[in-house]
Amino acid sequence: MKSRRAHSTAPSHPRADATAAALAEVRAVYEELARRPVARECTRQTRCCQFKLNGLTPYLTRGEALVAARGVRAAGRKQLPERADGACPLLHPQTGRCMIYAERPFGCRTHFCPAAGGPYARGEVVDLIRRLEAVDAALGGNGPRMLPGAVADALAELR
Ligand code: SF4
Repeated sequence: MKSRRAHSTAPSHPRADATAAALAEVRAVYEELARRPVARECTRQTRCCQFKLNGLTPYLTRGEALVAARGVRAAGRKQLPERADGACPLLHPQTGRCMIYAERPFGCRTHFCPAAGGPYARGEVVDLIRRLEAVDAALGGNGPRMLPGAVADALAELR
């Protein structure tokens, strides 16, 4: 007997489609960066995650923050942990590892960590930065923001 179950015809929401496309583009940028022949050795040394110690904090575009927030949720958290030491709130307090390494922002991949080879020259990645800026604009962002606030707000949106 043939099933009478109807095919799903529910239309997808245009805004959800736009967000999904934006997040796919952010991940495509990360993948493209990984293919670039720029010698770096990020072995999760986490020195760049010590914001207060380094006096430097990564800035994120809106698409990056949304991808990072999804990584936080996938790690089983609904909000950012408090850090009294000024380190990145995504640095796990017990393991000392990044909680969202696969979803870490662009700045964490092109960072200023001397142990990993130092920062990328802007010319090496400027096309990728432009793509992230385009995603930011498409999502109604206002340009890069400091990681903790950007990810906290993105997480609040997912609730
Ligand atoms: S997101 Fe991860 S890699 Fe980036 S600063 Fe935070 S803990 Fe470090």
